[in-house]
Amino acid sequence: MAMFQRIGSVLRTSAPARITSVCGHHCWWSNVEMGPPDAILGVTEAFKRDANPKKMNLGAGAYRDDAGKPYVLPSVRKAEEKIVGQKLDKEYLGITGLPAFFKAAADLAFLPDSDVIKEKRNVTVQTISGTGSLRVGANFLAKYLDAKTVWLPTPSWGNHTPIFKHAGLDVKAYRYYDSGTCGFDSAGALEDLSKIPENNIVLFHACAHNPTGVDPSFEDWQKMAEICKQRNLLPYFDMAYQGFASGDTDRDAKAMRYFVSEGHNILLSQSFAKNMGLYGERVGAFTIVCADEEEAKRVESQVKIIIRPMYSNPPLHGARIASTIMGDADLRAQWLLEVKSMADRIISMRTQLANNLKKEGSTHNWQHITDQIGMFCFTGLKPEQVEKLTNDFSVYLTKDGRISVAGVSSANVEYLAHAMHQVTK
Ligand code: PMP
Repeated sequence: MAMFQRIGSVLRTSAPARITSVCGHHCWWSNVEMGPPDAILGVTEAFKRDANPKKMNLGAGAYRDDAGKPYVLPSVRKAEEKIVGQKLDKEYLGITGLPAFFKAAADLAFLPDSDVIKEKRNVTVQTISGTGSLRVGANFLAKYLDAKTVWLPTPSWGNHTPIFKHAGLDVKAYRYYDSGTCGFDSAGALEDLSKIPENNIVLFHACAHNPTGVDPSFEDWQKMAEICKQRNLLPYFDMAYQGFASGDTDRDAKAMRYFVSEGHNILLSQSFAKNMGLYGERVGAFTIVCADEEEAKRVESQVKIIIRPMYSNPPLHGARIASTIMGDADLRAQWLLEVKSMADRIISMRTQLANNLKKEGSTHNWQHITDQIGMFCFTGLKPEQVEKLTNDFSVYLTKDGRISVAGVSSANVEYLAHAMHQVTK
């Protein structure tokens, strides 16, 4: 007698397994259920459908200039011209990527005269932007660390949980954001961190925490570094916004460098999506700081073994752009000014938004708008207020009340303040 199996909504016999659709094609995937749409891309889809000329898309995390247009950094354009002029070949890179790039990335993170770089204790490889870097890191941890749990701040970037889970790690959470103050929950974070079992992994956003825009004070970072030492925790820094938060690449790396100076052999994921505007070029790096050069060599050999079956080797063009910029004194200086101008525009939009809310007559305390840093602002708006903002004013944002400040411009900041005041008064 044939065995019956219910898969999804289809009842089928186990033998023979062949199922055909009405038009006669073989249904291999009748058991695959429809997945939910991506939370952020869903916002963009709804925005596109809206005919209101005043509509604003504050969902997507990509920088826009003051005219609301995507921005290619002039230093990137110059580097591209230089590269094209060199008529280089398109051969494969090695598994670890373009040496000039990953060396420059490590120098940018740690500084060339740091102990880590001088002692050659870092394994740094080029990766497919920040996401790919995290995934290489997650797979390495899943394979080589006995403790299989990574602790994320609450909330964290939405992709962190699936990245670590897909690699086979357990994901747990420590307190981070205080919805009462729209700031850092210092007491909650320190208490939770001090209870994490030894040898577990703790993920930190190096700067410009996504989605909240809330960063710990340096004193809090010092306390967290101390707890990680006492509890023997492995700190993993996700640095997707170096330079983009404050406008200064050194200032934004300060917390991460402090952990290293305290003897923490951290993991680090870097992205050049935001600070060089290289989003779609997928430029990133992954680093494991090791105890010494000999350990680094062994670890590097295994990182290569992890990468090879994933994607063999990373893409060439974006790494050439980034290494050309970082390796040329003039281009580098120009790039650092451009990063600063992007950060400054965002900071100025925060101030203008807060000022305009005041002008509208809002009596709420909006100080967190200017206290928070980086591309995102956690407004503190409740889901029903977010819904009203979208339905009545065509302002699109994620349900958690996060807005991408990079999508605000001098032309629409007053409108945004007006809309926010209307839904919160
Ligand atoms: N980590 C965080 C916290 C991010 O916000 C982002 C970008 N949204 C990334 C990593 C990685 O982005 P990408 O893969 O585009 O470099």
